[in-house]
Amino acid sequence: MAENAEVTQSPSPSNDNSAPADHPSSTTAHAQAAHHHGHEGTFVRPSDLLRPKTTSRPSAPTQPDRPIDRDQRAGLKAIRDFLRIRNCYDVLPLSFRLIELDVGLTVKESLNIMVQCGIVSAPLWDSSTSTYAGLLTVNDYLNVVRYYNLHADKLKDVDKLLLSDLKDVEKFLDVKPPETVSASPEAILFDALRKQLISRARRIPLVSYDSDTQRTMVTSVITQYRILKFIAMNVKETDMLRKSLAMIKLGTYGNIVRCTLDTTVLDVIDEMVMKNISSVPVVTTEGILLNVFEAVDVIEILKTGDYGNLTWTIGRALSARSPNHPGIYCCSLDDGLDTIFETIKRSRVHRLMIVDDNNYLKGVLSLSDILHYLLVEGQEETDQT
Ligand code: ATP
Repeated sequence: MAENAEVTQSPSPSNDNSAPADHPSSTTAHAQAAHHHGHEGTFVRPSDLLRPKTTSRPSAPTQPDRPIDRDQRAGLKAIRDFLRIRNCYDVLPLSFRLIELDVGLTVKESLNIMVQCGIVSAPLWDSSTSTYAGLLTVNDYLNVVRYYNLHADKLKDVDKLLLSDLKDVEKFLDVKPPETVSASPEAILFDALRKQLISRARRIPLVSYDSDTQRTMVTSVITQYRILKFIAMNVKETDMLRKSLAMIKLGTYGNIVRCTLDTTVLDVIDEMVMKNISSVPVVTTEGILLNVFEAVDVIEILKTGDYGNLTWTIGRALSARSPNHPGIYCCSLDDGLDTIFETIKRSRVHRLMIVDDNNYLKGVLSLSDILHYLLVEGQEETDQT
């Protein structure tokens, strides 16, 4: 059983089923009375040709606007309006630390620093040019693992691999270099987030330009969790987002990449790299959720420098986790973003596993799924207001 799992299965407070169920808008024929007076009916009048196309589009479904729909739109609009009047600086706490790593460090040294400081990503600094050199993330370590798996003969030199060599590893593996979206700390949060979501970057480094020294400087890095927590703490209208995940079709449900306790860590890493995902649920053969293996777990496994540990089974890797591991978060298809925001407010959530009452895995809800809905998909909902 998922010992660490905190199950947030609160029933959706608002299953308002009183209104007719959604149905795809039928092909509403745009009925036009045709008046045929003698030979006139055979002519197409210019005004017909010039009529904007939109007038002949099927009209919007005429179902009554339910309170739950109105509230959802109002909640989304409040969040967007809030993000439009805040800049990236606002998301940062009053005091924070920033750990930058020089590209001249070895990958092994960087792993030790990550573990000691309890971080999972860091901006890179190129001291030869005094410039920001991109963001080091756990994906870089996954690439290193794959590289040495293909080149066991080179493993003897693994301790000499520098952070500046990671570009060559990427090139060799033919993987896309990570997205290097950055934003100015003064950028409007809404704009910075849209840019990040479209680029599929998971973090936004805040990079400012110092006109005196003519150099760029990293102020901090904003994570998806930090943004969602900022929204949860400041926008009370998040409690209006009562539509369930099932209703708004939020999350991934088909083709979920999953593993069992007997799958090897190496196989799971391959899946994560190929599918560009950061976690793989661990399930029983019946599909009952037991735990989640996360990309960041790889950092702990690699810190010993023993790449042989990657042949461990997932079961063994999970039992080697620190006892302080925060556990996994679950929700049900009946939960709405209102309850999920409550969880985000209280706890450092990385993602939620969507399960049914018997803990059967139904789907995965990532933080990027939520942000995407708030900023991109939910657009249609707010446009109707
Ligand atoms: P991160 O967790 O690194 O901050 P993220 O929030 O984008 O990034 P990912 O795990 O990378 O989370 O998810 C990317 C997309 O893949 C999301 O749409 C998510 O629903 C989907 N996804 C996540 N895990 C799985 C999985 N195991 N199988 C299938 N799809 C998944």
